[in-house]
Amino acid sequence: MIEVHLGDITRLQVDVIVNAANRHLSGGGGVDGAIHRAAGPELSEACREIGGCPVGEVRPTPAFSLPSKRIYHTVGPVWRGGNLGEPELLCSCYRHCLSLARREGMRSIAFPAISCGVYDYPAELAVEIAVEQVQEHLDRDSPPFEIVFCCFDEAMAELYRQQLDALVRR
Ligand code: ADP
Repeated sequence: MIEVHLGDITRLQVDVIVNAANRHLSGGGGVDGAIHRAAGPELSEACREIGGCPVGEVRPTPAFSLPSKRIYHTVGPVWRGGNLGEPELLCSCYRHCLSLARREGMRSIAFPAISCGVYDYPAELAVEIAVEQVQEHLDRDSPPFEIVFCCFDEAMAELYRQQLDALVRR
């Protein structure tokens, strides 16, 4: 099942929320800052112990004060025109998160629009990748698995809805 949700990802009651982190896992602005504030100071400590995460990969932590079970910190690519491997790296973020969720036995996962804030990835292109990767995963995964695309604004939510509609019509 795929759902588009408009609102703050830190409020969601899902097994996993995905954080659009930076390579140092040091917290920052945007969704990363919101997750660190809501999860509490233990999250910064856990991230410091992990030490960092390469672009396109994922590192899990507990969710501490959040209602979810796990936080998957993934590092999206900074958009530099699209010819420096950005699409492959963004695909890799989604793939790594989804396969880790499966390995950890998680049943639901919420994604923010990775790289679509300060990392400047064109939203339409990023949404296409997000929806394709998730759909591919659902096609392979037989048990029920809930995916939430959590958007902070209506324009972004509309892009996801359009992309999901296009997929259904294909
Ligand atoms: P990146 O550095 O990967 O670009 P950002 O945090 O700057 O990450 O932005 C990623 C997306 O997350 C943007 O679309 C932004 O509007 C959205 N966002 C920011 N705060 C939240 C939040 N609390 N919940 C869900 N989405 C959020």
